[in-house]
Amino acid sequence: MPFGPLTLITPTAAMSSAVHGGRAKCLQRLVRLEMPVPVTVALSFDAVHNVALGNMPDMDALLAPFGDAPLLSVRPSSQDPDWGGPSAVLNVGMNDARYAELINYIGEEAATRSYMRFVQSYAVHVARLDPDEFHLPEYFDAASLREMMDTYEAETDALFPQDPAVQLSEVLRAMARAWDGTTARLLRQAKGAPADAGLGLVVQAMTAGRNDGACGKGVIQFVNGTTGAPQITGRFARGWQAEIRDVGNDVGNDGQGQFYITRDPRGKSLEEIYPEVFAQLVRYGDLCRKSLREEMEVKFTLEDGRLMILDAVRVQRSARASVKIAVALAEDQIIPREEAVMRVEPAALSELLHRQVDPRAPRDVIVRGIAASPGAASGRIVLTANEAQASAARGDACILVRRETTPEDIRGMHAANAVLTMRGGVTSHAAVIGRGLGLPCVVGASDLTIDRKTNKIIGLDGRSFAAGDMITVDGTTGQVLTGEPPMLEASLDGSFGTLLEWADEFRDIGVRANADTPADAQTARNFAAEGIGLCRTEHMFFEGDRLGVMREMIFAEDSDDRRAVLDRLLPMQRADFEALFEIMVGKTVCVRLFDPPLHEFLPSNKAGLRDLAAQVALPLPEVTERVAAMAEYNPMLGMRGVRLGIAIPEIYDMQAQAIFEAMATVREKGIEISVDIMIPLVSAMREVELVKARVDGIAHAVRTKHRVDFDYQLGVMVETPRAALRAQDIAEHAAFLSFGTNDLTQMTYGLSRDDAGRFMSSYVQQGVYAEDPFHTLDLEGVGELIALGAERGRKGRPDVVLSICGEHGGSRSAIAFCRAHGFDYVSCSPFRVPVARLTAAQLTLAERV
Ligand code: PEP
Ligand code: MG
Repeated sequence: MPFGPLTLITPTAAMSSAVHGGRAKCLQRLVRLEMPVPVTVALSFDAVHNVALGNMPDMDALLAPFGDAPLLSVRPSSQDPDWGGPSAVLNVGMNDARYAELINYIGEEAATRSYMRFVQSYAVHVARLDPDEFHLPEYFDAASLREMMDTYEAETDALFPQDPAVQLSEVLRAMARAWDGTTARLLRQAKGAPADAGLGLVVQAMTAGRNDGACGKGVIQFVNGTTGAPQITGRFARGWQAEIRDVGNDVGNDGQGQFYITRDPRGKSLEEIYPEVFAQLVRYGDLCRKSLREEMEVKFTLEDGRLMILDAVRVQRSARASVKIAVALAEDQIIPREEAVMRVEPAALSELLHRQVDPRAPRDVIVRGIAASPGAASGRIVLTANEAQASAARGDACILVRRETTPEDIRGMHAANAVLTMRGGVTSHAAVIGRGLGLPCVVGASDLTIDRKTNKIIGLDGRSFAAGDMITVDGTTGQVLTGEPPMLEASLDGSFGTLLEWADEFRDIGVRANADTPADAQTARNFAAEGIGLCRTEHMFFEGDRLGVMREMIFAEDSDDRRAVLDRLLPMQRADFEALFEIMVGKTVCVRLFDPPLHEFLPSNKAGLRDLAAQVALPLPEVTERVAAMAEYNPMLGMRGVRLGIAIPEIYDMQAQAIFEAMATVREKGIEISVDIMIPLVSAMREVELVKARVDGIAHAVRTKHRVDFDYQLGVMVETPRAALRAQDIAEHAAFLSFGTNDLTQMTYGLSRDDAGRFMSSYVQQGVYAEDPFHTLDLEGVGELIALGAERGRKGRPDVVLSICGEHGGSRSAIAFCRAHGFDYVSCSPFRVPVARLTAAQLTLAERV
């Protein structure tokens, strides 16, 4: 076997990060780059695992490279540095004899400080004593050291170990066991580490410079971790075994040995006092970037003027910096574009698209719900859609708080800065609309109650907040916070666009957007969606004065009456489509015909019924009775989608006419657009035949009347299990099949998408469902139905275009599934388009490797 348990790090030693961890491997790279790295020995994952089991390596062999009186640091080296590890232990090897020697060399204060720091970390991390008993004193002298030793001895009934070999083996054992602890394991698994991730350790010689010479310790990095822009930052502390205080770059020379790194008018800097050292560090930084192909933070010491490089780790970075750094590395031809695309976590993009609560800000959490639409916004509480609109009209930011939202709340949602609901899950109305609008949204915050009498919301801890109080909705974490914490602005710079252009070169599946309004379409276009994969037309009928006309249509006595009212809606609908088509010039727009049950347009309270009675000029009792008669026990399984299209065909007729006339109009303006018309909630082939016949007839009439030719595709939304099962004969009449995974999940599970939030967390906690299937596409069940539908659809029509358009559309697992089944595109909320483009590219590239 090429790897022993102990490896002295040399340029040629057999080492790998899968065996020794990232830190150890990185140190070898620095050695190969001829950087002055102190003597270091790496312990492999196996060796450390054995240590945890009580089988120590050959301690003589481990200590041999460090000479007679070693002074050592021990640091963790996990495979991926982001997985963390136990805290480093420094000054291993300090004992009474060494202490006495050091006093002559560096003075009592500095020698005592070194010894006490070691005793402290040994007591806390190795002997596991109470940290409160081991504070470092203000003045380091023999008496304070004695006191700490006495405490150690009293707590352990043993003398502080003096033998460096004993000290080191105890440190190794403590670190190895800490890695196996349950909390440490859960923490690293949360960061993506496998359950059996290994830990390596590196044992390194510590410096022994004189206090009066050019001694000190520092860190330096060459890029700003927040913006990703080139910038040298860091800290330097002068003195033997000085401590670098974690004060950032703003506090420099405080008269206690702390220095700025670069020249600074506020005080002395490393650049000024040791210019050659600084220049050397800059050279090393450049070498690291080019050779390690990464922006590194370099830890160094000065030992009587001699620079030593102790360690280099990836610069911690924000989402924005991660994009900028990856693109810059590729533009400088240090990494290929493919690698830049692979390096950015897609979720990081969605962080960039929205304002976020500053992660450094304190959070006072009122309640936690489901993080339904990312981003954060602060505003005053409003409890109705009308108040939201009034608030927006005054120019005040507001948060719309509702038990749940309905289509009637749409205008209020548009006016609000964020939405908070007590009910519903990730596909509830609030969540879907929130994502579409890029509006921060928390849903299903069931620990919150609304007291209608006092117009207050009350949290689980009894705190109440009145309408008008300032709160913050954090749709990224699902938290609702008091007040107005500081925010980080959305930041889309050139690197973002560049990275996504590269992603588009690599991906092999289309990405469209679900967009209902011109504003949505513009967002989709800005994010380079290849078209609109789902335009839910019903949202258009809640706008402005259309709701009233819609209600008149619903109350129409007969077909002629209905057609007359629809004639008034026709120009409005046509204008909607014209606006969409003009924005989406050159792309495809998939218009879904009317889907929801009609009663969603009717009022649900007394005042609304009175208004309606006045509007349709009927007595209130009659209106009340007719509204009641229209109620359904299971509206989502009732008269909606294509069933309305068949039972009341005038609605689809009007929509088809509006679509075709809008096409004719934009055509005349020279705008090329390709249009798909999609029929929702199909469960039988005959439904498609009937609708197709009427739609084709209307197209023909419009072509003749306007003397223009245009083409369109008619397709089916597969969102009932039966449509998936019967996809073969359905596809004979449909140019495309788009799987609506929201309804398909609802109907496959027999689980209401609007009510599942009530018990979903208990189901997931008990492992009944691995995840909320409305959030993560259920590949086993719903996925099987989709795969079967796709296969049967292709049998009916070999070139049938396949896609999905439910809320799952932008997720990694759904995109992977669609690629695996040869789908043509996915469609998702406009704000998820960039994430989906990057994810699709990464999946394609991962397959190439
Ligand atoms: C679906 O059901 O998956 C879908 C996209 O349509 P809607 O959410 O409008 O029902
Ligand atoms: Mg649906």
